[in-house]
Parts: sequence; C-alpha cells; structure tokens
Amino acid sequence: MSVAALRRRIAEALEGLGADAGLVGRRGLPVFGEAARLHCVGLGADGRDKFLAPLAARAWQAMSAAAAAEQVELLLVSAFRSFDFQHALIRAKIAKGRSLDEVLRVNAPPGCSEHHSGRAVDIGSRGIAPLEEDFERTEAFAWLGANAARYGFGLSFPRENRYGYLYEPWHWCWHRRST
Ligand SMILES: [Zn+2]
Repeated sequence: MSVAALRRRIAEALEGLGADAGLVGRRGLPVFGEAARLHCVGLGADGRDKFLAPLAARAWQAMSAAAAAEQVELLLVSAFRSFDFQHALIRAKIAKGRSLDEVLRVNAPPGCSEHHSGRAVDIGSRGIAPLEEDFERTEAFAWLGANAARYGFGLSFPRENRYGYLYEPWHWCWHRRST
C-alpha cells in the first residue's frame, strides 16, 4: 500500500472512530505500513504465537537469549499487530467507556503503530501487570537500558516524548541490524 493510500485509510478509520482526521499531522505521528514478511518468534506471554519482521525477529531472539543467559527473563507481551487489530483494540476500549482522547494517548491510531512494522515489541516481566509504568522498576528494564542498544532496540516513548504518547517503558523498537 502506498503512503498516500495508507494515509487515506488512517483518515477513514479516525473519522469512523469520531476522531479528528487531522490529528496524525498535528501530533507529527509517523505512519507504518504492515510488515511484508513475518517470522514466528514463539509464544508470547498470552500463550499465542508472536511474529516479527525477519531481521527484528533475529535481533529479538539474540537479545532475549542474552538476557536469559544472565538470568533476566524478557516476556514478550506483544509484537506485530495489524492495522485491523489496532483498530479493533481502540474500538473495544471505547466500547468499555474510555474516551477517545484518553485511548489515543496510549494506543497509536491504526496505521501509526510501530507494531505494524513488525519491529516493535512490548516486553513484560513476571509478577507485574503488563503495559504498566511499573515495568521501569524491574530487572528486565534495567537490563534493557544497559544492553538493548547493542541489539538495535531503542525505547520509543520516553517521558515527555514529542508524539504526545504516555511514557511506555515496555515498548522497544528495533531500528538497525545488530553489530
Ligand atoms: Zn507497544
């Protein structure tokens, strides 16, 4: 899908949600096409198969194995997500009574999630709720802070990030081939 077609699809989805279609431009949100190829990286914390783009999959496997070798467990909470899945996720939250504004601080609009690219992972740790700020107090987070860059992964949404998303210590995105 071309970027122009993707932008039209995003605008339609936002209108359907009752959101202002200009919000992507206003917040300067990058858009992400869906990964063309995906590799299964095994079961996630929810017991379902998880998928990443081939190079990101290899980097994730190397990184999680290196952490495990140091007795640090990186739980894979979420990896590739499709446009339609993201759209359904947002609709489900609104159906539960959350306001659209609030949801869009936490979830990227469909078409704007790094998870579409197959390069982003949400990482959890045993004993704490997934996708909560508490993750920053875990050994897993400390390990990632010290080591993730070596595997090409970076924290996408630090505190006060320029996109207007909440701080997401669990969300890491692969940006380059590991060295
Ligand atoms: Zn994420």
